[in-house]
Amino acid sequence: MDGERTLSSLSDTSDETEFYTPMPAGYRKGQCRYVVVFGTVMSGLGKGIFSSSLAKVLQDKGLTVAPIKLEGYLNRDSGTLNPFRHGEVFVLDDGMECDMDLGTYERMLNQNLTRLNFCTSGQIFSKVLDKERRGGFLGRDVQMIPHVTGEVKSRLRELAVTTGADVVFVEIGGTVGDVENAYFIEAIRELAFEEGPGSVCNVALTYIVEPSMLGEQKSKPAQLNLKALMAAGIHPHIIACRARHPASKKVREKIAMYSNVPMERVFSMHDCDSVYVIPEMLRGAGIDTAVLDILGLGDRPDTVREDAEREVWNDYIARFRETKHAVTIGVTGKYTSLRDSYASIIQAIEHAGVYYGAKVQLEWIDSAELTDDNVAKRLEHINGVIVPGGFGVRGVDGKLACIQYVRENAIPYLGLCYGFQIAVIEYARNVCGLEGASSTEIDADGPYPVIDILPEQKEIEGLGGNMRLGGHDVVLSEGSIISDLHGESGQIRLRFRHRYEVDPAFIERLEASGLIFSGRAPVHPIMQVLELPREVHPCFLATQAHPELTSRPLDPEPLFVALVRAAMVHAGVEEPQPTATLPRGPKRSNNHRNQEAPTG
Ligand code: GLN
Repeated sequence: MDGERTLSSLSDTSDETEFYTPMPAGYRKGQCRYVVVFGTVMSGLGKGIFSSSLAKVLQDKGLTVAPIKLEGYLNRDSGTLNPFRHGEVFVLDDGMECDMDLGTYERMLNQNLTRLNFCTSGQIFSKVLDKERRGGFLGRDVQMIPHVTGEVKSRLRELAVTTGADVVFVEIGGTVGDVENAYFIEAIRELAFEEGPGSVCNVALTYIVEPSMLGEQKSKPAQLNLKALMAAGIHPHIIACRARHPASKKVREKIAMYSNVPMERVFSMHDCDSVYVIPEMLRGAGIDTAVLDILGLGDRPDTVREDAEREVWNDYIARFRETKHAVTIGVTGKYTSLRDSYASIIQAIEHAGVYYGAKVQLEWIDSAELTDDNVAKRLEHINGVIVPGGFGVRGVDGKLACIQYVRENAIPYLGLCYGFQIAVIEYARNVCGLEGASSTEIDADGPYPVIDILPEQKEIEGLGGNMRLGGHDVVLSEGSIISDLHGESGQIRLRFRHRYEVDPAFIERLEASGLIFSGRAPVHPIMQVLELPREVHPCFLATQAHPELTSRPLDPEPLFVALVRAAMVHAGVEEPQPTATLPRGPKRSNNHRNQEAPTG
């Protein structure tokens, strides 16, 4: 087993051992602790938000944390998932397409994650099946236990070794009782046994119902599902009760009584006005100290560091609550029926809004219903527009009508990925006079395919015919709006997820008509940012990238900041003033704290 030893080689076991625990090279038992978050009663309780908030509190104290989401589905990544069903596909810097929770972790921890932080059943099973073909199981029949669970444990330990984390945060997708997640829970049971007491802290997130016909909180569904967790061999150390209102003492007592978890470790986690309030809520309730006690890390907190981190974070929350200038920004897209499809855009707008003291109302505009005739009426009260990423033909005409209208009527605009490509098409058609200009994604045989798949470029980039994914450098033109927004940096890094791009054959023509491509790939002619000069339009910006993915609460994304500022001016605020200074140095977008390097 390449670079791996197994637990059976470490201890005294029989020849036909039942143990199968591949250990990644360099793993030392006891060096890393684990916090595992289980969901009970139902999905949608905000496990990712809870887990990332708890991880943040420990990070504030000076501990190194590494999150991992274990996802039950058989897809190897989230690339092919429909955002209608699953919410947005989040893209990591290394190109991994993953669950939107990874976005929550990145924002909360201000840390770039990698493919090691996202694990699906598809990844686990393909690894096991590949290994079987290579004879890696030495004649054994390959079983869910111990082989598949062994691979899960190995993934967790690999993350611990690679990141040098003090604490690995494991979020188990789905709900206790789901068939597809059962083996993850089993793997955690084994892990806790192998690592020994005090190494794993199990946190059960549960839900307290409050039926309107009763008008009081009921704990029975929580009790029953916690029982199911215990039947799977996991005894929770901490129970966090999600609820609409603070969980009553009576309810917490019942839960404590039925689960043998001391009352002081049954916490209320009721609804609040922003996800960024939760770290402070956890601290206030004392969940952080409970976790540290359980893991024997009570002597680790660096309180000076924690106070400093808390201060900046609480300042953000105070500014969030104080936002006063009302502006309305429309999002013209296809997936407007499921807000989760635009989770990162909502976040990026919040960060930029807080930065300028703006209370941004987002309005969802279904592009399929927008036409040249109704667009003026529909956008009457809108101060700015975003056309987000998208795929396929549906709704394209509405997006074109929308972009033409905002361009001609000086309404601030930000185009993201597809919103960049459609802005190019609109400009080609209505300003350059290239009638019928389009993307080959929309019209395969059009007269002017200004957006196209360019296989020769893909080949140069070594990506075959696939999507261009992940972080890529963008060189900014001197004197452009985008380079102004980024301060001194001439080169930034943005994340991408696209197949099509501007055909270089049309660049000269588009630029001769006044469109400026102000951000390009360093070597190949891939257009990555476009803008119109300030004399022509107050704010017309678009990017082939997904800048929403790299916005952070304390470091809002400059393109979103520009849009919000322009929208405020449009709404009548004369000189919008920032409410804080940005932690911006040269090359800002490269500056996000990456996971700590391995410590050996
Ligand atoms: N459909 C476009 C492409 O594949 C845009 C993709 C996107 O918006 N993420 O290039």
